[in-house]
Amino acid sequence: MLESAQALIRKTAEKMKLDEETIKRLIEPEFAHEFALAITMDNGKKKVLKGWRIQHNSALGPYKGGIRFHKDTVREEVQALATLMSIKCSVAGLPYGGSKGGIAVDPKTLSKTELERLSRAFAVKIAPVIGVDLDVPAPDVNTTPQIMAWMLDEYQKIKGYKSPATFTGKPVSMGGSLGRTEATGRGGLFVLQALLEKTRHRVSRPPHPKGTQAIDSKQVSSSFQDLSIAVQGFGNVGYYFAKLAHEAGFKIVAVSDSRGGVYIKDGLTPETTMKCKKEKGSVAGCYCRGSVCDLKSGKTITNDELLELPVDILVPAALENVINEKNMKNIKAKIIVEMANGPITEEAYEYLSKKSLPAGRQGVIIVPDVLANSGGVTVSYLEWVQGKAGYWWSEKKVNLKLEEMIIRAFEAIWNKSVAKKMPLKQAAFEVAIERITSAMV
Ligand code: NAD
Repeated sequence: MLESAQALIRKTAEKMKLDEETIKRLIEPEFAHEFALAITMDNGKKKVLKGWRIQHNSALGPYKGGIRFHKDTVREEVQALATLMSIKCSVAGLPYGGSKGGIAVDPKTLSKTELERLSRAFAVKIAPVIGVDLDVPAPDVNTTPQIMAWMLDEYQKIKGYKSPATFTGKPVSMGGSLGRTEATGRGGLFVLQALLEKTRHRVSRPPHPKGTQAIDSKQVSSSFQDLSIAVQGFGNVGYYFAKLAHEAGFKIVAVSDSRGGVYIKDGLTPETTMKCKKEKGSVAGCYCRGSVCDLKSGKTITNDELLELPVDILVPAALENVINEKNMKNIKAKIIVEMANGPITEEAYEYLSKKSLPAGRQGVIIVPDVLANSGGVTVSYLEWVQGKAGYWWSEKKVNLKLEEMIIRAFEAIWNKSVAKKMPLKQAAFEVAIERITSAMV
């Protein structure tokens, strides 16, 4: 993962004819903090775990990046993710650099009190190197608003003053932002709608004076009724993407979670499917009674089958590398929105970008993750702004600002992609690197 992130930056930078020393500055992290954390377990014994905070690049502003708790977390992964955060923040037009933190631990093996002690111990380790204008952590895999609350509390005790903007993704009661929970899915939908406008699936957007008017889903709904979407992953990102897309008039024909999925040719209602998932534990059995599935209303499918469905738009929103050399030739979607981080391998990316499509069209349009899922970090930025100002906005205002910012980010990348006849991913990296290097003194 680290090698491929660095190779992508090098390839883009070389095409841009940047000199070797600049390329090194774009690749090497500015700081890599590594530490051992000793926590007391409920049985009184000590446990030692490894943790990292890697600060990649701060040319555009304070470092920004999540903290993940995962048993397979290693230094290289944290560094790769920190590197990609520098690119994502730059793509999103945020005044941030990139960082990432992590602990090699399976949080599911810890009790709540052990998890709290671990979170507080991690905050003690990173307290000297983070800060509201230095490095602003947030949740990532297996870390939650509650964990941010423990970390912020510990940080504020160490500092002796309140500083809610030092962490984002906090509970709203501690200075979190309204709209953060849905932000990644919502941002992805804004990007998809903007892309469809460009690719001539015209949508009749309401007037949008000075970016202050929200999209009225009722007005646009009829334009999307013929476009079908399959969403892999029905967690925070996948669910809100599906729910909001459905409200905007798209036809969600398939969704899945780790235990499989459902396909309903005429379209499903994400909210009803989520209610069923909560009752049954999985979306896969939602249209079945015992072992008998009602094929008229729905069909149970595997995650692999979902990716190969004959849909207009495919939205991988779960894991990395799910579209790869094994299934790339069977992908039928004309547009892929990368809501997960890194869902398409390099080989599959090359193949799909060049694939011949009906009606003489060339290449599947792939909306890269650094743009498609940047709604989350964009609303984290809005949370930081609100926390610094000590003034909290309505959810409507947060959503309007998100729309304005993510569409601006999309426009810059789209224009570069058209001007230089390059795929959106390459254009995104070029735009990001241009902005970072122009701020490097
Ligand atoms: P989540 O844990 O809420 O949901 C993940 C979903 O994926 C769950 O429905 C789970 O059942 C499903 N899943 C797990 N294994 C699967 C498998 N083998 N096949 C199909 N589905 C599987 O996580 P999330 O926050 O929704 O994040 C999803 C992706 O989006 C990740 O790649 C994450 O890095 C990325 N992302 C998330 C955010 C955010 O704000 N949450 C921001 C940027 C990127």
